[in-house]
Amino acid sequence: MTQAVCILGVTGSIGQSTLKVLEQHPDQYTVFAVSAYSRLDELLEICKKYHPKIVVVPNEKAFELKQKLNNENLKQIEILTDEAGLIAIAEHPDVDVVMAAIVGAAGLLPTLAAVKAGKRVLLANKEALVMSGDIMMQAAKQHKALLLPVDSEHNAIFQSLPHNYLDAKRTEQPQLGVSQILLTASGGPFLNHSIEQLKDVTPQQACKHPNWSMGQKISVDSATLMNKGLELIEACHLFSISEHFVTVVVHPQSIIHSMVQYVDGSTLAQMGNPDMCTPIAHALAWPKRLTTHVPALDLFETAQLNFQKPDEIKFPALNLARQVMRAGGLAPTILNASNEIAVAAFLDNKIRFTEIPQVVENTLQVVQNAKAENIDIILHTDMIARQVAEQYIMEVGG
Ligand code: NAD
Ligand code: MG
Repeated sequence: MTQAVCILGVTGSIGQSTLKVLEQHPDQYTVFAVSAYSRLDELLEICKKYHPKIVVVPNEKAFELKQKLNNENLKQIEILTDEAGLIAIAEHPDVDVVMAAIVGAAGLLPTLAAVKAGKRVLLANKEALVMSGDIMMQAAKQHKALLLPVDSEHNAIFQSLPHNYLDAKRTEQPQLGVSQILLTASGGPFLNHSIEQLKDVTPQQACKHPNWSMGQKISVDSATLMNKGLELIEACHLFSISEHFVTVVVHPQSIIHSMVQYVDGSTLAQMGNPDMCTPIAHALAWPKRLTTHVPALDLFETAQLNFQKPDEIKFPALNLARQVMRAGGLAPTILNASNEIAVAAFLDNKIRFTEIPQVVENTLQVVQNAKAENIDIILHTDMIARQVAEQYIMEVGG
């Protein structure tokens, strides 16, 4: 029996890497449903190659896609649209595994739907967990979903934790002899830039990550270190640990993907060449292992592994995220929403790179924090925070 996979965000960087892993194991997995947002031609190629049963696109693209599928004799592929379509494929009874690889808040409801349907959920869409935190984690427990980290750092932490860690009692303290999590960061393309130099960096420079090839939004987040901030929050929720047990370590080579320290003085690390196919394969098959095309690490080639503390003055986003995690409630939603708006404005040449954390900080000051009681409050706050961030961007001259 093969497992039916649904890929939310199939045309993205993670979506493509997922297909790369799946195509090596056609005896174990079939691509049942996929979603895309804008790149219809790429989606069509995917339909031709994998013959999914269902595809989801925005309503305004559905007609064009229908014609393209008809021209290719792929009439049998069902087209669903918008958020309702994303939710329908995420919770579809025939689906076993959901890859949550939509970028940003748009992935929240479909990811949560997959969790509530008790699927094996491979979580790349960190923004969804940052926004919904406890609600997502409790839903996973209640509906017996297997929420497995695809983010390379969290996947490395998961691999380095005791095998029964996720079953351990959930407290703010590390359990089972774990003393600390070391979350590694490459430092991004501007690690050695001065604050002065940072003011003039362009979107093109920000999107050129030294070690990873990723979508634009996460590339900019990696450059501001907001990605590490989001990952700090993600780690606290996934591993039920308070933020002061998570230390960020800059490791420019991206060979060690994160570490776990134990009370007896041990430090366990997961290492590998920087390729997302490794954590994707791990989350797909866990506790088994799948072969991938990723070559084994050659330590003689690697030669050097360096570590340093993050510069939180040059990259204030990291500390903002730490404060937000401490504050809890709706603060992570406010941080995430304003960051999405700020990154889009930077990519659109409306604000400077160094203004991204300023937009976030301002929004956190203006929008009131409260308890994140339910998803409706989270979505409402997300909308308000976006408006406040946009207003601020207009005022600073965007
Ligand atoms: P990407 O920009 O390459 O792809 C995003 C995907 O989401 C695309 O398929 C796009 O069609 C879809 N999408 C975008 N906006 C949408 C919307 N409003 N509604 C529905 N679908 C929409 O991004 P990516 O690099 O693949 O990242 C995806 C997620 O995985 C992000 O949350 C990112 O933080 C996380 N992640 C990525 C990497 C990586 O190496 N790329 C690593 C770790 C985590
Ligand atoms: Mg990561």
